[in-house]
Amino acid sequence: MPELPELQAHAERLTTDFGGAELAGFRPITFTALKTFAPDPASAVGSTVDAVTRRGKHLLLVVGDVTFVVHLMQGGRLVPDEKQSAKPRNGIARWTFADGRALLLTEPGTERKAGVWVVAGDPEHQAPLEGLGPDADTLDVDGWAAVVAGRTGRLHGVLRDQQAVAGIGRRLANEICHRAKLSPFASAAKLDRTQLEALTAASASCIAESLDEERTRDHMARSAERSGAVHHHVGDPCPVCGDTVRSVEYRSYTVAYCPTCQTGGKVLADNTTSKFLK
Ligand SMILES: [Zn+2]
Repeated sequence: MPELPELQAHAERLTTDFGGAELAGFRPITFTALKTFAPDPASAVGSTVDAVTRRGKHLLLVVGDVTFVVHLMQGGRLVPDEKQSAKPRNGIARWTFADGRALLLTEPGTERKAGVWVVAGDPEHQAPLEGLGPDADTLDVDGWAAVVAGRTGRLHGVLRDQQAVAGIGRRLANEICHRAKLSPFASAAKLDRTQLEALTAASASCIAESLDEERTRDHMARSAERSGAVHHHVGDPCPVCGDTVRSVEYRSYTVAYCPTCQTGGKVLADNTTSKFLK
């Protein structure tokens, strides 16, 4: 799933390319594409795109008084639609513009989880943004202290919980824990001030580096294209200490970590049935 840096850089590209374009139409292509009943997306027709922004893992097309909030989910993409065919492959929804161009929301496969919410006014306190935690790139040490306060879950899980902190997925959770030299299985609420400072610095630098890298691209990077020290590097030597990067596999994701850097040399059971790790 794309994370904060990929989405932020993509929003910037879309603003450059489509900012100022006049909306001519919006059409959901699948039955589940449009998640809201009101306002009518047609009410934005004739207005221009102010900007494409980002909140958490959502893209926001701000068109006059209306905001189209787009969630790409796992494999969705929001891309210029050069062909504008009647039945676009993997097409979910399409925006057309008065200058003849179009944007297409695509999602491969059959899950059809990507979607569009049309909201009037400030989208921050409306679905789907309502209840999101603060964006990870906005947090100082006190901000992180507030994120983990009372969250007794494991750090890796809290980092990926969008209600706690927004914008971090599997890759950044792995990379931030590694850079901060924190165990992904540490209890988030028990981090001390020194550990919170390490978490703050690691989060800021991991996100900034990824954003710099994404800004050099002309498209949103796929997971395997994104660089990292431990994510997608299980079995490789840790670039910091040379120990072997280990993993704990879950059904839908892998926690990758370096024992020497993060768990005091302890190799955790690579077993999803382990009670200790659940
Ligand atoms: Zn290491």
